[in-house]
Amino acid sequence: MTDAPGARGTALPATNHPHPATSGTPTVLTGATVVLPTGTVKNGRLAVHGTRIAPTVPENAQVIDVTDHYVIPGFVDLHNHGGGGASFTSGSVDDILKGIHTHRLHGTTTLVASTVTGDMDFLTRRAGLLSELAEQGEIAGVHFEGPFISPCRKGAHSEALLRDPHPADVRKLIDAARGQARMLTLATELPGGLDSVRLLADHGVIAAIGHTDATYEQTVEAIDAGATVATHLFNAMPPLGHRSPGPIAALLEDDRVTVELINDGTHLHPAALQLAFHHAGADRVAFITDAMDAAGFGDGRYWLGPLEVEVADGVARLVEDGTIAGSTLTLDRAFKRAVTVDGLSVEDAVTALSATPARLLGMADTIGSLEPGKYADLLILDSAYELKGVMRRGEWVVGPQLG
Ligand SMILES: [Zn+2]
Repeated sequence: MTDAPGARGTALPATNHPHPATSGTPTVLTGATVVLPTGTVKNGRLAVHGTRIAPTVPENAQVIDVTDHYVIPGFVDLHNHGGGGASFTSGSVDDILKGIHTHRLHGTTTLVASTVTGDMDFLTRRAGLLSELAEQGEIAGVHFEGPFISPCRKGAHSEALLRDPHPADVRKLIDAARGQARMLTLATELPGGLDSVRLLADHGVIAAIGHTDATYEQTVEAIDAGATVATHLFNAMPPLGHRSPGPIAALLEDDRVTVELINDGTHLHPAALQLAFHHAGADRVAFITDAMDAAGFGDGRYWLGPLEVEVADGVARLVEDGTIAGSTLTLDRAFKRAVTVDGLSVEDAVTALSATPARLLGMADTIGSLEPGKYADLLILDSAYELKGVMRRGEWVVGPQLG
């Protein structure tokens, strides 16, 4: 579906707001509540030189007073299908860049582009295109969601295109992504599932258990084979039962697994989210968007791969049967919700939105926390947790708006 009909909607949100802050100049942010991996510092400062966080304040640094604001690391999204009216599965390169930019405006400084189920030829072509954008540093790699998923838990994936995870097919996708495949979501209980998990692990690609109908025991087997992520825990898998605990109990109890959670208020009841969070802890939870084209754009008709989606009041559902079809979430909203609705600490929310996904991607030495030498990927939030500035690689994506 390379030329799916365009979606309704209006223009992109405004990009740079006028402010004296200049991109690329050595900068020091002062007076802030800075969330560091070692703890939160009040009235702290953070220096930026070039693309990196600097150990000391550079000479001639521009001083920006951000008193009464938080400075936190940029968000890292492991699972994202598009935004700004654009789809990572079907859009042109320009569309994809527009989608990436939309999420940057909402604080996501690193994202992995996710595809939805398609036929193998289509997916290998998309993998080639997305890998070029990964090589250019626009995205952190590719996540294949489907086609190796369970027809019983297909969610918003086209049933006709689902297939069993034969390792030869998994290998084709890994190769097509030219070293940029980061994650593949599969139903590990299907024929070839465990061999595919081993293959993925051998190639350094995250094997993510999702859209699965596995039992508890089958899930334990898959984790033992090397699966390390739960794709949107709770969604598109059997519920937790007291005599058949299913995948949820197996994924939550094992320290080797990180669980994705979609914190948009639609996909999960707050109590389910809190249960998972308190059990796994911030080091094993990654908040994701699972966003589709309408994120940061608006209600209307869209395409998710070959399936038509109606977005109303920010909730995306398949036209054919009303199944929830991804989200319209952006991670700034997920952060605010985590702190103000779910009662998480700012530090735990930062960990689940930055450090944990960065570690999973093997990028913890360059992103995921505010430490000297790492990329200057940082956000400014006001005391109500509203986003007021976004810097990526030392450049302002959204200049500080300090009122
Ligand atoms: Zn998804």
